[in-house]
Amino acid sequence: MPAWHQMSKEDCLLEQGVDASNGLTSVEAADRLREVGRNVLIEGKGRNWLAILREQLCSALVGILLAAVIISLALGEYVDALAIITIVVLNTALGFYQDYRAEKALAALKRFEVSTVRVLRDGKWQALSAEELIPGDIVQLEAGNLVPADCRLLQAFSLRTQEAMLTGESADIEKVVKPLPGDDLSLGDRKNMVYKGTLLTYGHATGLVIATGMATELGKIAHSLHVVEHQTTPLQRRLGQLGRTLAIASLVIVAAVFAMGAMLGEDVRLMVMTALSLAVAIVPEGLPAVATVTLAIGAMRMFNLQALIRRLPAVETLGSVTVICSDKTGTLTENKMTVESLCVDDENIRLPDRSATDRVPAGATHLGVGLDEGTSAAAELLLMGAGLCSEAELRSSGDDASEPANLEALGEPTEVALVTAAARCGLSKSALLEEFPLVEELAFDSVRKRMTTIHRMEAGSRQTLLSSDAQAVAFMKGATDQVVNACSERLWHGQRQPLDDAVRLHIASLHDQLAAEGKRVLAVACRQLAKLPATFVAEEIEQGMTLLGLVAIADPARQEAADAVTRCQAAGIRPVMITGDHPLTALSIAEQVGIGHADATLSGSQLATLSDDELRQRVGNVSVYARVEPNDKLRIVEALQQIGEVVAMTGDGVNDAPALKKAHIGVAMGVTGADVSKEASDMVLLDDNFATIVNAVEQGRIVYDNIRKFVRYTMSSNAGEVVVMIVGPLMGMPLPLLPLQILWINLVTDGLPGLALAVEPAERDTMQRPPRQTKEPIIDRTMWINIAWVG
Ligand code: ATP
Repeated sequence: MPAWHQMSKEDCLLEQGVDASNGLTSVEAADRLREVGRNVLIEGKGRNWLAILREQLCSALVGILLAAVIISLALGEYVDALAIITIVVLNTALGFYQDYRAEKALAALKRFEVSTVRVLRDGKWQALSAEELIPGDIVQLEAGNLVPADCRLLQAFSLRTQEAMLTGESADIEKVVKPLPGDDLSLGDRKNMVYKGTLLTYGHATGLVIATGMATELGKIAHSLHVVEHQTTPLQRRLGQLGRTLAIASLVIVAAVFAMGAMLGEDVRLMVMTALSLAVAIVPEGLPAVATVTLAIGAMRMFNLQALIRRLPAVETLGSVTVICSDKTGTLTENKMTVESLCVDDENIRLPDRSATDRVPAGATHLGVGLDEGTSAAAELLLMGAGLCSEAELRSSGDDASEPANLEALGEPTEVALVTAAARCGLSKSALLEEFPLVEELAFDSVRKRMTTIHRMEAGSRQTLLSSDAQAVAFMKGATDQVVNACSERLWHGQRQPLDDAVRLHIASLHDQLAAEGKRVLAVACRQLAKLPATFVAEEIEQGMTLLGLVAIADPARQEAADAVTRCQAAGIRPVMITGDHPLTALSIAEQVGIGHADATLSGSQLATLSDDELRQRVGNVSVYARVEPNDKLRIVEALQQIGEVVAMTGDGVNDAPALKKAHIGVAMGVTGADVSKEASDMVLLDDNFATIVNAVEQGRIVYDNIRKFVRYTMSSNAGEVVVMIVGPLMGMPLPLLPLQILWINLVTDGLPGLALAVEPAERDTMQRPPRQTKEPIIDRTMWINIAWVG
């Protein structure tokens, strides 16, 4: 058999025994899955139980206790020695059990990180866990995601990948679909293939899975990828430090007491026992275990609130967040986009109030009554363009595809809204594609803010505004300014009219009116091409276009967002909106949820003129950044960090990864987020909701509070013991507590109640006080006084 890259895509499909339009059947898929196994790489081990046990035994506490055992043995106190050993074992077992469970819980959370893939099975596109992929599956590949399995490409639109991890090549690779000759092509040269674990940086594609799991190229070189990392948090490290300091303090006190006793001529044996008891009293045995457990419980609680923690330190950092920078679309708004109206020839045309699944009487334009013929034809052309120029689709999801109620919308919400709007007016995308088959797509990205598709024109079109002698037509849609820049004329009552400055200004004001209502406004343009070009260069095609009109899309603010914003503000946290959308749209939504006002708005172009110093001066007051590019997010985070803020930053796209990494808490979107953004994040929002971030911050504060409560509790009870132990002998009393008794008290009063403190609910003022300073010591002055007093 020739290699996959040498074969035509039809032969590849044949070889895999799969039909391009239906995919595998679920029965066949289940069989294959049984045969080849799940699409996973052999998992590396996390911290195993031996490692956890070793950590438990290597603590300062155990060292001191073991010293106590040896001294007791030397003094012939065999019963004491045995008892202390028992206590050490019990304490270690308790600590081990807690730590082990925490580790398991965190590993369980890791498993929720598996990404989902759109797969064609039984003739339907379905979202499946990437682990269920098998050779023969047909999958959709989108920019920003990691390739889920080795695939032969069936269709590719401007697809580029980053394969450095596999081939060492750091430049992006342009992908193709055609077969490539040569059976000795290196992996990097097999440009019609994509490989598991590499990154899709641009465009989109469909691919045929040819290898999964350990059979993939990545599997061949991977031995222990997927390691469940064990991370200690700054807090755990500080607690460890505190433990060590206390151990040293105990040795000093012990030496002092022993010396004092010896000078006073006390019984040496008694003094040794006293010193031992003291040492044991001072060390807070339960501290490390309780911290671990509290952090793990915090992470579990956050998970139940839809926030998946990817890095444990995030749990405590969340508690000290001072600024939350959030995307608008989907996080503060519902991301349920609906086209409300079209603006053609200055007419504001409201779309008929029906859904895409309603049956529409055939043959009519259905676009309002009373429009002149030219306007109505232009509106239809605009909707055709909006429907065709998108990756979204309405597909049949039920058995009976002719039943419109079985239509299912697939794709990015903005595009789904457009395709649905066209369908609401009787223009089904699949029928349009038959008339205007797709030839090429110049993809959308957040920097260009527009996209173009090129379609072949089959002989003649019923669209009166399209000339029938052109071979192709290009449709463009995108941010109004970006589209208008590519236009040289517009349609005006059925006639072409040059776009002079006055007309451009007029269009901008129409746009602003709609945007000020909080609508996302897209412009649509078209251009007929006399000849179908051989290659498609964006600069050549995206010029001299004809503007057709504007589309106003509504995306309501999330109901819970305003409430979450208020909670943030009460908690001394400043919410900031950063969006790619137009400043007016952004500001309107910001005002609805209570984030900003006009003075506190900065646009991407204004941002570009500010130097880093100037930005640093402004950044403390701006609460809405609009029309920004993903790279700007990085600048904003850096500026905020420089003025001392602790920043949580959300992001969903490929280009957001650097900003997410840089932020103290990088927050990725679980539903709409690209894999790369999730990889770069500390926390994933399973519901993409702003309110969830605020809930997670509250949990972060609770965790920190609870650990402090435990520290105060255990330290004050230890302080009590120390006082008793020092004062007793000084007043000539017999030794008040034996080491054994102290250990027993500590075991039952520290370990178990400590666990109870770990699950304490929130205090009433948890979200009513300002964020904790990151540099704040765990035990501050007030707490020391409190410990001494209670002790
Ligand atoms: P946010 O940062 O709040 O989530 P966003 O990420 O949705 O906003 P982008 O997706 O970068 O912002 O969109 C920026 C602009 O690009 C939009 O205002 C819109 O004008 C345009 N746009 C968005 N989606 C599309 C699309 N699918 N096709 C063409 N243009 C689009």
